[in-house]
Amino acid sequence: MQPHDYIEREEKYGAHNYHPLPVVLDRGQGPFVWDVEGKRYYDFLSAYSAVNQGHCHPKITAALVEQAQKLTLTSRAFFNSVLGEYEEYITKYFGYDKVLPMNTGAEGDETALKLCRKWAYLNKGIRENQAKIIVCEGNFHGRTITIVSMSTDPDARKDYGPFTPGFITIPYNDLPALEKALGDPDVAGFLVEPIQGEAGVFVPDDGYIKKAYDLCKKNNVLFIADEVQTGIARTGKLLACDHEGVRPDILILGKALSGGAMPISAVLADDDIMLTIKPGEHGSTFGGNPLAGKVAIAALEVVRDEKLAENAERLGKIFRDELRAVKSEMIELVRGKGLLNAIVIRPKNGKEAWDVCLTMADLGLLAKPTHGHIIRFAPPLIINEEQLRDAISLIKKAIHQFE
Ligand code: PLP
Repeated sequence: MQPHDYIEREEKYGAHNYHPLPVVLDRGQGPFVWDVEGKRYYDFLSAYSAVNQGHCHPKITAALVEQAQKLTLTSRAFFNSVLGEYEEYITKYFGYDKVLPMNTGAEGDETALKLCRKWAYLNKGIRENQAKIIVCEGNFHGRTITIVSMSTDPDARKDYGPFTPGFITIPYNDLPALEKALGDPDVAGFLVEPIQGEAGVFVPDDGYIKKAYDLCKKNNVLFIADEVQTGIARTGKLLACDHEGVRPDILILGKALSGGAMPISAVLADDDIMLTIKPGEHGSTFGGNPLAGKVAIAALEVVRDEKLAENAERLGKIFRDELRAVKSEMIELVRGKGLLNAIVIRPKNGKEAWDVCLTMADLGLLAKPTHGHIIRFAPPLIINEEQLRDAISLIKKAIHQFE
């Protein structure tokens, strides 16, 4: 089969809810993927930061295979021999009393919203059905009806109403707006991405997260961090909130919790919040399955053993320094933290971010535009300096082709 055969088959039998670059991938190892014709690419998307540990990490794959041959799923109707081990491991790793295991990032966010509302009614004393949660313009928390209800992206919302009520939307990186919104006594939580990834890697001002947290505490409001994309070493610390010494009341993780091997998400909180949810009130058939438990333990061990946060911190600086030094009318801005970075592209002679991505793919590097004019660069965190510098030279070469 030729690449176009694969593409045509997807077009014919699959829903058209994505617009992929015309590259058909077949194999991955570390920071690289190969297409069906054997061409090698640097993967600078890392499946939206799910593959922080690199493609097919041998330790994660071994854990997956070993557990897959023993027991994959019991449902939560019964105990299993792995779940407790995983729960102890992840809660100690991130420093929380309890974890609630789910599968996708969106489910993690939904879980956090339910947990926040439940806490509001049982512990904060908000009247039934009155709880509100503050969210930010430009947010991305997934694709469910409730999550798109919080979205300000017209593509995410158009023709998907009616929407779930109970949200207050404020501008991102705007402390006065947050302070004002917190004046409403029915506010239960503030849900925020410490860096807005899908929006185009928007990094808020230094101190924003800490001051936002302090304002929440002053008003007895839960600070809920969606670290599905920013967490697990991506931004140069284990969590992006660690840059400001903030420990969220509710922490949502996903993506790299499995290193890309399978969907695993988790919500972490202390007992006063987590124990408000009672048996039968929330869950998922697959959440907390033994396969996921073993994979997540291995994935988190890799992050620690291979010092991925330190690597992301160090290489991220090189990446930004190198690209900021490029003289090109097409580069409007380079921003990011750790190895979560973006270039804002200024279109030239009708050529846009999409064209730059196609040229980079030709040269052997994969990245994808977000919101038309922004290209996100998020390689696996196991990339080494030599590989990173090689990749940077490909990005520069692509940009220069438009001069
Ligand atoms: N939250 C954030 C911050 C994300 O970036 C994403 C996905 O990109 C999600 C939630 C949703 O995760 P999933 O696609 O696994 O549902």
